Amino acid sequence: MRIPEDAAVPPSSTDADELASAAPFRVIVIADNASVLRRVSLSLGEAIRGGCRVESMSGSEAGLAALSRETYDLCLLHHQMGGGQGLTVMKTARASGCRVPFLVLLDQAADTLEMSAIAQGADECVPLDTASDAALERQVRRSVARARALDAERERDLTERRRLEDQLRQAQKMEAIGQLAGGVAHDFNNLLMVILGYCETLSLSLPEGGPTLGQVLEIKKAGSRAAQLTQQLLAFSRRQILQPKVIDLNWIIADTDRMLRRLIGENIVFRTKLASELRPVKADPGQIQQVLLNLVVNARDAMPDGGAVTIETANVQLDATYLGMVHSSLKAGGYVMLSVTDTGTGMDAETLSHLFEPFFTTKGLKGTGLGLATVYGVVQQSGGDILPDSEPGRGTTFRIYLPQATADLAEQRLETPAALAGEERVLIVEDEGPVRALVTAMLRRQGYDVLEAASAEEALALEEKDGDDIDLLVADVVMPGLSGTELTQRMKDLRPRMKVLFISGHTDHVQLRNELHKPGVHFLQKPFTATALGRKVRDVLDGLLV
Ligand code: ADP
Ligand code: MG
Repeated sequence: MRIPEDAAVPPSSTDADELASAAPFRVIVIADNASVLRRVSLSLGEAIRGGCRVESMSGSEAGLAALSRETYDLCLLHHQMGGGQGLTVMKTARASGCRVPFLVLLDQAADTLEMSAIAQGADECVPLDTASDAALERQVRRSVARARALDAERERDLTERRRLEDQLRQAQKMEAIGQLAGGVAHDFNNLLMVILGYCETLSLSLPEGGPTLGQVLEIKKAGSRAAQLTQQLLAFSRRQILQPKVIDLNWIIADTDRMLRRLIGENIVFRTKLASELRPVKADPGQIQQVLLNLVVNARDAMPDGGAVTIETANVQLDATYLGMVHSSLKAGGYVMLSVTDTGTGMDAETLSHLFEPFFTTKGLKGTGLGLATVYGVVQQSGGDILPDSEPGRGTTFRIYLPQATADLAEQRLETPAALAGEERVLIVEDEGPVRALVTAMLRRQGYDVLEAASAEEALALEEKDGDDIDLLVADVVMPGLSGTELTQRMKDLRPRMKVLFISGHTDHVQLRNELHKPGVHFLQKPFTATALGRKVRDVLDGLLV
């Protein structure tokens, strides 16, 4: 019987009683005393009539043989068997991997016996002299129910772990493909710029109507199609673009802790040694979590027979001598170290030399070879470095160094209020209420006089009423009714000096591209931060952008 999926907490004893009475169980009674065997069968008489199976084994040898052969929900074991040697049956069974719970039967209640039985791994003890038949039966049902609930929980954990692993593998694959696609797209775009640029020059120098011009124009058309394809690739990889923030790695670790513990399972000890007053770093929190997951999963894979994994953080000062010794290209200075250490198999020199290559794996079909490649990419893009330290049979430590973020905090402070502020009048046209509210709030905080409109039509009405001194129009591109580009065309006719800033999640609207050629018209891709918006608005208004 399986516990329903949503039974998040182990059932209380009443639930447990119900559970057990709902499902027939199979128990084994091991004793060498015929009257004890008879007594238990009598007590469980009603359960037996209800379809439960109670098997009696006389003596420890017969008992152990049955336990190794069959699966039971519970074993009732007579403590006084063999002159008080009953518990050796439990110990022998456990040593050979048997996981059945034991209910120990005592002739009389005896605290010391009970305590030592429980200490040796018994589930519960029942004194036969005082327990009524009904009480004994209840105890059996309770023990069975508890064991089943535990099993179900273990099963759930296992399922959850498998699901997380699948997810992780998928994420790694996507990450690597995304990076690959992004890289290819960038390189291609540079090549295409040359191809299309020279097509342009050539076509201008060739005689109108000649056969060569036609061919050059064909090349140009194919080039443009290729550029569109690259655009699609870029769109895919853009999801992987890092969104760095100034963060505290200890927080990220605390946040990921539970998931990591789940992933590594029961036979591996999980420890963290987090530095107090850890300096902040500038990194993408989601990506750092991915880094942790990938390293911890590798650590787990390296410890099939159990072990320990330790995550550590520290503020460190790296000097040139050390960096030279470990062949790191980092500059000497203050870093935050994040390390993941395992007590697993370790690696030989050959493995170490290929470690970060995409698709390098020693795990056959089970591996993707993308875990460390992804980690490497993220760490490099965050301005850091990762150094493995491993020997066969001696475990592995990966140390990641990320630059301490003090400089960036200062830089951000420079960006804030004064430098970004302004008093000009800005009209925002955006059909998504929450986005409009956000953008309005961002700009008002920077001092601008902001008018809001939920559609192009509303914007035109506003303009007619009191829109005389609109310095900047901030418009969404795609809206129901008139589009942002159509709106600008109308408004620009009346006020040629008004600047325009389009905001959109897509870059490839044909109309938008046509508009962007015009003077004073600019674009900012969603999502953006207040700082990015502030800087862009300032630059547009000050005519700093061409
Ligand atoms: P995968 O785990 O899919 O094999 P990775 O890129 O994560 O791919 O790792 C590449 C290889 O590096 C692994 O197959 C393994 O041989 C080795 N490796 C990585 N981490 C460890 C570790 N903690 N202990 C031992 N070997 C490791
Ligand atoms: Mg891996």
